[in-house]
Amino acid sequence: ERKQKEDELKMAYAELHKIQAELIESEKLAAIGILASGVAHEIRNPLAVILQGVNFLENRLKPCPKNISEILNLIKDNIRRSDNTIQGILNFSRKTELSKQKEDIKSMIESSLLLVQHKIKLGNIEISRQLQADLPEIIVNRQKIEQALVNILLNAIEAIPGGGKIFIRVYLKKLEEITNVVGRRKDDLFVLGEQSLIVEIEDTGAGISKENTDKLFLPFFTTKGPNKGVGLGLSVTRNIMLMHRGAIEIISQEGKFTKVVLTFKIGGVE
Ligand code: ADP
Ligand code: MG
Repeated sequence: ERKQKEDELKMAYAELHKIQAELIESEKLAAIGILASGVAHEIRNPLAVILQGVNFLENRLKPCPKNISEILNLIKDNIRRSDNTIQGILNFSRKTELSKQKEDIKSMIESSLLLVQHKIKLGNIEISRQLQADLPEIIVNRQKIEQALVNILLNAIEAIPGGGKIFIRVYLKKLEEITNVVGRRKDDLFVLGEQSLIVEIEDTGAGISKENTDKLFLPFFTTKGPNKGVGLGLSVTRNIMLMHRGAIEIISQEGKFTKVVLTFKIGGVE
């Protein structure tokens, strides 16, 4: 029987490694997408300016001598070619349509906890759940939300090296305060008075210093040193929340706690 348990453990461990590797790959891919689309925009704007300049010259030189007209057309062709290439990159890096369906937040939290279970045990960490009863389902991509939760849980675990507590709270909240994501305008993520589902993950760890609070979501920002942190967890997590038109906020006090607050739309988005 012991042998069988050992084998089971080995298999679970191998599975875990595989999932971890996949997570890292998807973080990397997402970061490349962000970089590529940033660069693409930077190149597209100057190209548009060049094209305008060529059009202007063409108009000024009317009737245009043949050899000059040929050169102007050559320039325009090449601008178009570059623009097509960039459009291709943008299409590639654009968030692919997510398949979303009704999911139960509690079960997504439990699955994510399972993935980091061994670290929780090793780290001497106690998990405290405060989950409101009768929560509605939310329309999300399960894999993505679990990836986001795992990223946040890993950060919490890594912030309490000597052991400590992680609180997980889930509750409904009517958004009655204007913030940077709640407002009255059409393009605000949430409208004032909207009912939302909140997931809080709070740890009793090292906290975040004032100077770092603005940098947390930058791709590749990490305080964990080489071979430890890649600095993509939070930027990927924020992207995932944006794909669901949800929000993420981090509240922390150095040396005391860090609380990550996720706000989900109820009913979800298309
Ligand atoms: P990584 O974990 O690879 O460093 P992340 O994007 O996940 O990258 O996090 C970026 C940085 O934010 C971390 O290096 C750390 O400084 C800080 N951070 C994130 N979560 C926490 C937390 N729960 N407690 C303290 N610091 C945190
Ligand atoms: Mg991380």
